[in-house]
Amino acid sequence: MPTDKSDPIPNYFLSVIKHKCSRCRTGDMFKTKKLYNLKEFMKMNTRCPVCGQILEIEPGFYFGTSYVSYMLTVALSATTFVAWWVIIGLSLNDNRLFWWIGVNTVILLLSQPYLMRLSRSMWLSFFVKYNPNWRTERAEEPERL
Ligand SMILES: [Zn+2]
Repeated sequence: MPTDKSDPIPNYFLSVIKHKCSRCRTGDMFKTKKLYNLKEFMKMNTRCPVCGQILEIEPGFYFGTSYVSYMLTVALSATTFVAWWVIIGLSLNDNRLFWWIGVNTVILLLSQPYLMRLSRSMWLSFFVKYNPNWRTERAEEPERL
């Protein structure tokens, strides 16, 4: 009878939406959990506090997250548009369309800190894969010139 119990692999989507390191899916990428502390919310750990993965793999690594953030913003706006259309309805004869624009703007502004973090954790997960042996294997050191 096998006696060794290996840890279950943490869920990919849960680790991304909770902004976890994509190598161990356990350590936090960001220093604070407070989303609306606007001075601190984007400050990241240099290394994953759990497995030691470097979180900024190369200089300017997170520039590409603007595309991810844009995609998330468009997807969220499309979702609120369809929800508004189904629940409240849209017409060119009244100002319900302008109400949607206003409400959508508020939703986008309030969700922006979360979406900015989410785009970074998605971006990291595109480049750093889960390593089931993260407890015993050392994190790869990036080349720095
Ligand atoms: Zn980690």
